[in-house]
Amino acid sequence: MLACILMGPPGSGKGTQAKLLSSELEIPHISTGDILRSEIASGSELGNRVKAVVDSGKYVDDELMIELIDQRLSLDDAKAGFILDGFPRTENQAHALDRLFEAKKYKQLKVIEMQVRQELLMERLTGRLSCPSCGAAFHKSLNKPKVAGICDNCGTALVTREDDLAETVKKRLQVFETQTRPLLAFYRDGNRLYTVDGSLAVDEIKTEIKRLLLAS
Ligand SMILES: [Zn+2]
Repeated sequence: MLACILMGPPGSGKGTQAKLLSSELEIPHISTGDILRSEIASGSELGNRVKAVVDSGKYVDDELMIELIDQRLSLDDAKAGFILDGFPRTENQAHALDRLFEAKKYKQLKVIEMQVRQELLMERLTGRLSCPSCGAAFHKSLNKPKVAGICDNCGTALVTREDDLAETVKKRLQVFETQTRPLLAFYRDGNRLYTVDGSLAVDEIKTEIKRLLLAS
């Protein structure tokens, strides 16, 4: 059973790694955003409760989120393991998750921290360019469009989304520092934290995480 949580600030590349690892290790990538969307789409009683919360502009509370994660982890495809992404974000959530894992008799949890220095995160996140017409994504330095500022696919002028403006990015990184950073210490104290260098190439990072996860 490979029980794994991927943690890292916005721009650390954890979403990319979660997808790659999920397909290579044949265990599901479980992101809380996906859980919420699919539960709402299912029209279940739980889904309707989630929809009511989301529609009212509030956050889904920890108890409900744990219930959803419990349900997701009970599906057949998660029997051999899972990669959890986007949860927990606070210490309360981490404790609630520990209680769930204990109830489910998961013996060994590995928390992978993707460490990337602040300046590199800023460069990655503020350089993003999006096409308002077809949705294609580019980057000012890491994935340049053929013609500066123009979408390769459809020729529309590229824009920087609100989320990717320097001020917004700084705030998002700050939220991670104040809210989520203490969690790393929590997992480190429990000898469950493994840190990888998130500034390496995508393939190198993936190989390192795989090695950590498959080591006994
Ligand atoms: Zn386009």
